[in-house]
Amino acid sequence: MAVATPAPATSAKVTPTRAPVREEPAPGPETGATKIMKWKDGRQAVFMLEFDDSCETDIKNVIPELKKRGMVGTFYINPGNGPFKNKQGAWEKDVAAAGMEMGNHTFTHSHALNVADFESELTLCTDEINKCYPDRKQPRLISYGPPGGIPKEKWLVSKDEVNASLAKLHLIERPSFYGPPIHMKGAAEVMKVVDFALSKGEMGHLDFHGVGGDWLVTPMDWFLPLLDKLDANRDLLWITDPISWHKYLTERKASEVKVLAADARQIRIQLASTTDPALYDSPLTLATRVPQDWKECQVTQGSSSSTAQAVSGIVRYSALPGTEPISLQPAK
Ligand SMILES: [Zn+2]
Repeated sequence: MAVATPAPATSAKVTPTRAPVREEPAPGPETGATKIMKWKDGRQAVFMLEFDDSCETDIKNVIPELKKRGMVGTFYINPGNGPFKNKQGAWEKDVAAAGMEMGNHTFTHSHALNVADFESELTLCTDEINKCYPDRKQPRLISYGPPGGIPKEKWLVSKDEVNASLAKLHLIERPSFYGPPIHMKGAAEVMKVVDFALSKGEMGHLDFHGVGGDWLVTPMDWFLPLLDKLDANRDLLWITDPISWHKYLTERKASEVKVLAADARQIRIQLASTTDPALYDSPLTLATRVPQDWKECQVTQGSSSSTAQAVSGIVRYSALPGTEPISLQPAK
């Protein structure tokens, strides 16, 4: 006797939708007028994917799907715990090579009895992250995701003490945990978070534990439609990691454009910033009004030089804040 197979309850026949394109206002009409784009490369919004507890499903299910799509995820690891140790070889050799980022989720996800204990948990975790990215300079900013669910008697440091330790150890606390299945109950609700970020032109993020297994599980049929949705809006979204977002936002707010000179042959700009260029070293995207007959521009800052096309008298390019002046000329 034939038995009809019921459709799985979580089956999500949701077609990824495209968000409307909203252009940022152009710089003013005068030659040399320059603005810092709200987000990198003039994207409409930002999106970040974060995964906690070094779950084994990160290695098995998440990273292959992100890698396939050329998307970055940030993995908040606990190197002192079993799930990490079970896949230590993969964490140390494959994760960075797949283009992924790691964040500090403390060494054992279990205690902060006093400041010295808390800092030891942080430092041991950062040491392991540095081992996974041997080519990166130190110190550098690393994202911190606070471990959740720790009993009160094992967490005895105050918020002020936490903040002081994070600042000392170059750790930047990420936005508060927000993700399925705690805050969303299906694929459609998960994808709404992407639409919200796009409609506001702001940063959106989703945080996960297990995906397709482990604990606090997000089913694969919620996760894969989310990735398809991000892919469908890829040109509008800057899909990035919390440190890159934090650097861009901090630098943008701390930077100011000064037009030093602007005529028919050359434009010179100073991008002044109050951030420390040793730690805040990500380029900002600038848009400058150039003379109408400049079709291709040579953009030079210090020893780096590139060419960029002018579109309707506007040229868009990357520049480092708080360093040398930038010069723009028509390319020969
Ligand atoms: Zn956790």
